[in-house]
Amino acid sequence: MAREPLFDGHGRRISDLRVSVTDRCNFRCQYCMPADGLPWLERAEVLTFEEIHRLASVMAPMGVTDLRLTGGEPLVRRGFPKLVEMLAAVPGIEDLSLTTNAYLLERDADALVEAGITRVNVSIDSLQKDRFFQLTRRDSLPQVLRGLEAIARHERVWPIKVNAVALRGFTEEEAIPFADFARSTSFQVRFIEFMPLDGDHSWSRDQVLTGEELRAIIHSVHPLEEAPREPHATARVFRFADGQGEIGFINPVSEPFCADCNRIRLTADGKLRTCLFSLHETDLRAPLRDGASDEELESVIRDAVWRKELKHRVGEPGFRQPARTMSAIGG
Ligand code: SF4
Repeated sequence: MAREPLFDGHGRRISDLRVSVTDRCNFRCQYCMPADGLPWLERAEVLTFEEIHRLASVMAPMGVTDLRLTGGEPLVRRGFPKLVEMLAAVPGIEDLSLTTNAYLLERDADALVEAGITRVNVSIDSLQKDRFFQLTRRDSLPQVLRGLEAIARHERVWPIKVNAVALRGFTEEEAIPFADFARSTSFQVRFIEFMPLDGDHSWSRDQVLTGEELRAIIHSVHPLEEAPREPHATARVFRFADGQGEIGFINPVSEPFCADCNRIRLTADGKLRTCLFSLHETDLRAPLRDGASDEELESVIRDAVWRKELKHRVGEPGFRQPARTMSAIGG
C-alpha cells in the first residue's frame, strides 16, 4: 500500500536507493584501496538477503522505486542472483540495476537478467591491457570485456554504461580510445571525476582531471554537441556532431549536481547514508535485528532523510573526507 512519498528537508523527493551488498572486491584499484585490500566486515555484520529485501519493501511504498545494487564488487557475494530475484519481486520496484567491474559478469550475466536486472554500469578505467593492469592491479581486461559482451547479448538490458574514473596524469591517454569505443559500440561511456573517497585518504584537488578538460581533448578530435540534461541526471551528455553516438561526463567535483539529488544509500552493514559524502550514518541493522515493525523502520528512515545534506562540500573550507571509503559505499 502506497505511503507518503519520501522527501528531504530541502523539498527533494527521494526515489533512488543504492544498496552496497558487500564491502569486498576482487580488484585493487589504486585510487580506491590499498594493494592488500581493507579490513573486511565480518559475515555477521553484513545484512542478509532477507534484511535487504525487508528494507527495500519498507521503502518502495514511500516511492523509492529505483534500486541500484553495488559493492565493493556485488558479484563476489555468494548467491547474488537470488537477492536480485527477491528484490525484483518487491511491489513498487520499477528499476533494478547493477554496478560491477564485470570480472564475473561472463559467468553471471544470464542468471542476473533472468532474475530481473534491467540496467548495468560497468567500471572500466582503461581499454589498454597494460594500463588496466597498472591501475587495477589485476591483469583482467580481456575477462572484463568478455563480461561486457555477455551482458550485451541481452537486449532487455538497456542502457549498458561504461564508467571510467578520470585521473590526472592517467586518463588523458584514455580519452580518445574511450571516445572511439563510444562511437563504435552501443555502450554509453561516462567519465567520472575522482572523488575524495579513496582508501588511503590521499585525494587532492590537483589529481582531479575535470570533465571539461576531457571534453576538450575529445572535442578537438571528434566535435561534440551538448544534449539536454535529464532530471536527476548525474552526467552531462554530449553527442558526437557527426551522429556517431554520445559520451558523458559526471563532474561531482567541478560541477556538483546536488540540487535535484534523489539518492540515498544503504551500506553492506546496514547504515543509511543520505549523501555520498555524509559524515553521519543512521543504523538500520540494529532496529531490524531488534524486531522493529515496518512503521518503526519507516519513521527512522523518514527522520534520517529529512536531515539529508543539501550538497557535498568538496573543495570548500572545512571539508572533511568521510571515514567510510568508496569501496564500502558503492557507486
Ligand atoms: S554528493 Fe550527496 S547530495 Fe550531492 S548528488 Fe551526491 S549524494 Fe546527492
